[in-house]
Amino acid sequence: MTAPEPLRAEPASEGLMSGAEAEDLGERLLERTAQLVEVASVSHQEAELADLVEAEVRGMADLGVERIGDSVVARSADRGGARLVLAGHLDTVPPAVEGLGIERLPDAVAGLGAVDMKGGLAVLLELACRAAHARVGLTFVFYACEEVAREENALGRLAQERPDLLEGDAAVLAEPTGGVVEAGCQGTARIRVTLGGRRAHTARPWTGVNAVHRMAPLLARISGYPGRRVRLDGCEYREQLQAVAVQGGAAANVVPDLAQLVLNHRFAPDRSPEEALAALEAWVEEDLQTALGDQLEVLDVAPAAPPHLASPWLAALVAATGQAPRAKLGWTDVATFAGMGVPAANFGPGDPRLAHGPREVVHRDELLHAFWVLGALVGLPTSGPGLDPRGPGEPGPPRS
Ligand SMILES: [Zn+2]
Repeated sequence: MTAPEPLRAEPASEGLMSGAEAEDLGERLLERTAQLVEVASVSHQEAELADLVEAEVRGMADLGVERIGDSVVARSADRGGARLVLAGHLDTVPPAVEGLGIERLPDAVAGLGAVDMKGGLAVLLELACRAAHARVGLTFVFYACEEVAREENALGRLAQERPDLLEGDAAVLAEPTGGVVEAGCQGTARIRVTLGGRRAHTARPWTGVNAVHRMAPLLARISGYPGRRVRLDGCEYREQLQAVAVQGGAAANVVPDLAQLVLNHRFAPDRSPEEALAALEAWVEEDLQTALGDQLEVLDVAPAAPPHLASPWLAALVAATGQAPRAKLGWTDVATFAGMGVPAANFGPGDPRLAHGPREVVHRDELLHAFWVLGALVGLPTSGPGLDPRGPGEPGPPRS
């Protein structure tokens, strides 16, 4: 792996950028965010937004563009042998309230997906139009179907069908992280526990075994689950176990002989899916009785991703933010990159607590901070021709 060079060890800032330049850039970022929010892109309906992004990147210097389904990959020429992948999903969750539009505020944009993650996409597009000035090769990945089942995730499909497009020394997912690095991600597994029993008349329950009642001790143990806290590269991961669905019963006058429970387990990146499932099974099995037909079934599992903060790229990313990194407790596509051997982290504009909420708002300062941090990481000048998307000697209005 080639270490990125030169890198700033100190927090990125506006540096040499004049107040007017920063003002201009902030305005462009807000405008781009608004333009992206205006095009609805609920999962599976990303075509129009993909068209817009494709048209934008095709008009930018130094980028080779491929459209695959509703995903767009734009790559700049190799530079110094190092390559950074910057990725973001095009889709949003469905709106909380139908017909809620976009609000353009003086210093912010509000609307569905503003935080998760059209603000991040706006930052990526502003970086993309300056790719020719970066000191490293850049790959921009705008992909579909992140907010739905993992099998439908277009990045996962690219990783299988076109891994060449995702190659790089490191990757950054511009998910909303409040401007700090959220390192790695926890794995997630769903398992179904089936408890058996013996049917009987409810008037004479002692002649049977109530499968629903048998859930009680198991549920009590689950609600007190002693999740491990695992510290990796200075970030604390917190394992969780939650019952997320329950089913059981036969008839109103029958002692039930079947009860089922679906559990969601979030596990730290020091365990492989196999290790996490083995540990969970051992823990649950204390309450299971094979004689009654109890069983445990894995419904799905997605691997965790280690923080990889020793990677020179991700260490430089953390340094550029000027803030301590924290663990990503949810699952994200950093695991997809980690599965390909590419160290990856989550970093982007916007308050993650607003994601998927009724009103997503992203602010100018958040967009600028994310731009400066990523710009510093890829070696963009903070002022002058590298900052100006028109490039040297190319007068006229910005082409985007
Ligand atoms: Zn997201």
